[in-house]
Amino acid sequence: MWVGVVPEGQIKAAGSLGAARNCVLCGSAEVRTIDVIPFRDLRRLWFEMSEVDIVTCLAKPYEESVVPLRRCMACGLGFYPESLSGSARLYEELGKLEYYYPSEKWEFQLALQDIMSARSVLEIGCGMGVFLERAASCPP
Ligand SMILES: [Zn+2]
Repeated sequence: MWVGVVPEGQIKAAGSLGAARNCVLCGSAEVRTIDVIPFRDLRRLWFEMSEVDIVTCLAKPYEESVVPLRRCMACGLGFYPESLSGSARLYEELGKLEYYYPSEKWEFQLALQDIMSARSVLEIGCGMGVFLERAASCPP
């Protein structure tokens, strides 16, 4: 696991967003800001990738000028602020892109093997439900 060092000036530029908060996965307080990206750059990158303007697709307006990337020193998870969460509209827009929810992924077959003996399946973050349709059509 690589953990970079962010110059002190960039952490200060992140303001309260650069302050340590608990890990969203394991709850550890050992969280560090490992990178900072200006929000305008993130917005531009999103638009270049998807032609989606994230300003109009966030759950609520993002009020900060920079976005910190945090890493949990306990479990290694990297995460962005929860205040950057997308709205339902974001996923509707992404669903229009052919490449975002492909009908075939390499991990589908592996996952099907893992759940072969399961009586029921709950998929979280299922996109358009392509995997669940495929799982439902598999013989028991
Ligand atoms: Zn963690």
